[in-house]
Amino acid sequence: MKYLDDDRDIRFNLLEWLDLDAVLSSEHYREFDRDQLAMVLDEALKVARGSVAACNQEGDRTGARFENGRVTLPEGFVAAYRDLATGGWISSTMAPEFGGMGLPESVGTGISEFIMGANTALGLQVLLTRGAAHLIETFGSEDLKATYCERMYTGEWAGSMCLTEAGAGSDLGALTTKAVRQGDGSYLITGEKIFITSGDHELTPNIIHAVLARTPGAPAGPKGISLFVVPKVRVNPDGSLGEANDVACAGIEHKLGIHGSPTCSLVFGTNNGSQGFLLGQEEQGLVHMFQMMNAARWEVGVQGLSNASAAHQAALAYARERLQGRGPSAGKTSGQSLIIEHPDVRRSLLLQSAYVQAMRALVSYTGWCMDMAHVSQGEERDQWQGLVELFTPISKAWCSDWGFRVTEWALQVYGGYGYTMDYPAEQYLRDCKIASIYEGTNGIQALDLVGRKFRMQEGRPVKALLKLAADAAQSLVSDPVLGASARQLVDAVKAMDAVLTQLPARENAGLLTLLNAVPILDMLGHVVGGYLLLQQAEVAKGKAQILMAERGVNPADPAALRAHLAGSKEAAFYQNKVQAAIHFAHRGLPLVAAHAVALLAGETAPMEAVF
Ligand SMILES: Cc1cc2nc3c(=O)[nH]c(=O)nc-3n(C[C@H](O)[C@H](O)[C@H](O)COP(=O)(O)OP(=O)(O)OC[C@H]3O[C@@H](n4cnc5c(N)ncnc54)[C@H](O)[C@@H]3O)c2cc1C
Repeated sequence: MKYLDDDRDIRFNLLEWLDLDAVLSSEHYREFDRDQLAMVLDEALKVARGSVAACNQEGDRTGARFENGRVTLPEGFVAAYRDLATGGWISSTMAPEFGGMGLPESVGTGISEFIMGANTALGLQVLLTRGAAHLIETFGSEDLKATYCERMYTGEWAGSMCLTEAGAGSDLGALTTKAVRQGDGSYLITGEKIFITSGDHELTPNIIHAVLARTPGAPAGPKGISLFVVPKVRVNPDGSLGEANDVACAGIEHKLGIHGSPTCSLVFGTNNGSQGFLLGQEEQGLVHMFQMMNAARWEVGVQGLSNASAAHQAALAYARERLQGRGPSAGKTSGQSLIIEHPDVRRSLLLQSAYVQAMRALVSYTGWCMDMAHVSQGEERDQWQGLVELFTPISKAWCSDWGFRVTEWALQVYGGYGYTMDYPAEQYLRDCKIASIYEGTNGIQALDLVGRKFRMQEGRPVKALLKLAADAAQSLVSDPVLGASARQLVDAVKAMDAVLTQLPARENAGLLTLLNAVPILDMLGHVVGGYLLLQQAEVAKGKAQILMAERGVNPADPAALRAHLAGSKEAAFYQNKVQAAIHFAHRGLPLVAAHAVALLAGETAPMEAVF
């Protein structure tokens, strides 16, 4: 299946919009320059378009299989995973000390989008291996780091995260897997985990599981959880592989999408032989695990974006070829028009593009904030980190929810063909759905936002964000092109502010907040999207004007402007960025005020309903 990427907009985000110089001028990233980073993106795109995309459809059709106690992956996955490993893409943003490239996260966002967009099922393997290795790098002993990190970052061994159990999904505090300390300092692990992505496969000779378990006598609930490294195959002191470590795959799920990704039930210690090693401190496991979960939440947001973008690009290509009906400018005697001429199809395509661009702006900006937190110190570092923490649940939930909707709109563009397996739209839709469920459902993300992220640092990050958005909007209200959009943003910020100040003052504030956490996250996602797109539109407008001046185009002459836009891909790109921001401001931002009206009315019918 051909992967139609949005390379041009990814480069706009990284190289034309974000202040990359602020990152590259720091000691930490001094060895990189813009040209090198552009070349890195070229290389990542090559592998994504090549072997990674080539096995995406086959991965969906064949799927992972469980036969005779073994998990096999679709043909093509092994070679594509090798390409990702040898290219260094598993650890592109990780420390060079253990084999990583040490790239900024803002660049890593683009790389992740390419890989996830080309093949989500395989991309998950990259995400999990990197995250599990990073846990060992941060919380492991020197021995554990030396044994595992480089082998995982270079793709020789893979990783997984083992949290969920049959009775412990959203509520991890209910997990029962046990870890008992042995005389040699290792732990004996016994228990069953379910839904473990890449819990077993033959991509690599060893799989290193990051496992949450409970030590004897540990308090009940989340405070009694510890974190362990449990290899599938034991590792000898010289680094060679030893005997199997009593971790068995009991089966895999048959599911809606990401068929190439094995979702495994794992049984630890059937024969009392599953050896684990503590990471960090006992009973601090959940706190430590949040490092991997937060990174994964942001990357699941990137998944939502990637599926949406690939689906949109495919729908756009189809709309440019499919003849049906007559568009408004077609003559009575002319033949059928391309469906891209129909206003309703154009509306859908631009709305898709606007949401995709808003999602990309959000995850790219979050990556850039991570870089800024990385290169700054003290109060400044806290400010950037505050934004990263605020954006994490929004990136995860907003991009997966709207990403899924975009895949649905994209499928609709195809008419009946979209519903068939002859075109890729239905696979993107199915592959995308899981993003709103795993890594903490979107309901749980919304509770994290309203319960923790709004309150952290005495509410400074959310206040600072709203002020940034309000100031950006005010500075553009008189702009002849973007003024009306800026006014929509002014109204959206006011509506958001009204909810944040008025809701806590209500008598039943606690209940209203729990009832409305998901709409509140949706509101803030739209405000951030509108704010970032307006910034991008200002940059794009400036670039479009430069192009017109260079080519002597008079913007007041409609025929000359049309010819210019038809003859220059760059001019069309900037034109579409401005139009997408305007469309988002008029079609997306009013949802913020609509949510505010609904939830400030204080209606509590779901609690009165009899289910
Ligand atoms: C394909 C796939 C891959 C996965 N990969 C992994 C993996 O690699 N590792 C891993 O550990 N897990 C993995 N999971 C598990 C996944 O993270 C869980 O399914 C998810 O966290 C939800 O848990 P649950 O399924 O038990 O749903 P439940 O927790 O039972 O939730 C059911 C519903 O109730 C809501 N709900 C639950 N509690 C609350 C609450 N307190 N307030 C409001 N609403 C609530 C939820 O939002 C949800 O809508 C995977 C799952 C799937 C399907």
